[in-house]
Amino acid sequence: MPRLLLATTNRGKVEELKDLLWGCGWDLVSLQDIRVLEDIVVEEGDDYRQNAILKAKVAALATGLVALGEDSGLEVEALGGAPGPTSARFLGAQATYEERFTYILGQLQGLPTPKRAALFRCVMALVDPVSGRQWVVEDTCPGYIAFSPRGEGGFGYDPIFYIPTRTATMAQLPPQEKNRISHRAKAAWRLRQVLKELRYELENR
Ligand code: IMP
Repeated sequence: MPRLLLATTNRGKVEELKDLLWGCGWDLVSLQDIRVLEDIVVEEGDDYRQNAILKAKVAALATGLVALGEDSGLEVEALGGAPGPTSARFLGAQATYEERFTYILGQLQGLPTPKRAALFRCVMALVDPVSGRQWVVEDTCPGYIAFSPRGEGGFGYDPIFYIPTRTATMAQLPPQEKNRISHRAKAAWRLRQVLKELRYELENR
């Protein structure tokens, strides 16, 4: 089975990606699994696509493995799309998610649900270090900013991301339910098709 390197150090993402790509015909390894890469640092910009490609490219060239780079973020309509691609560093890299929730909820104070629209966006890039080719897929998950944080599951902004069709925040959903509806799940479905074709090609190279 060919190896696919998940080029992220975010544990929440690694766990979700391993579930989402399970059974895709690739042996999934994370940066932690192969250790040598633990201190790879990629300077991120404010463009999901470029960030995802850069993460995949750096990891693929350093290891010779096909690598998957993922860049994602929360976009709040009432905040003009912020925090966006810099979600992980919103209000500073050292800020806690509680501080980020308090800030966002404060900015949206008094707004009714229809004006609290938000979405999660996920962009995934696949890079083959041998041919240098790259593929990019993208998807979103729509929702609303909750009136207060709720739930213990998931990671990042999940406690304040309300899914009306589930009457729950993303953090209140069981992991298998998040993995059915999330931005990452939808992008992973698209990526599966690319992985299937690339695996076929590698096997016949
Ligand atoms: P990056 O892609 O590593 O730059 O970081 C993405 C950031 O977006 C995460 O650290 C979270 O703050 C946020 N984010 C992305 N996906 C999710 C999700 O599924 N749930 C909650 N927050 C997310």
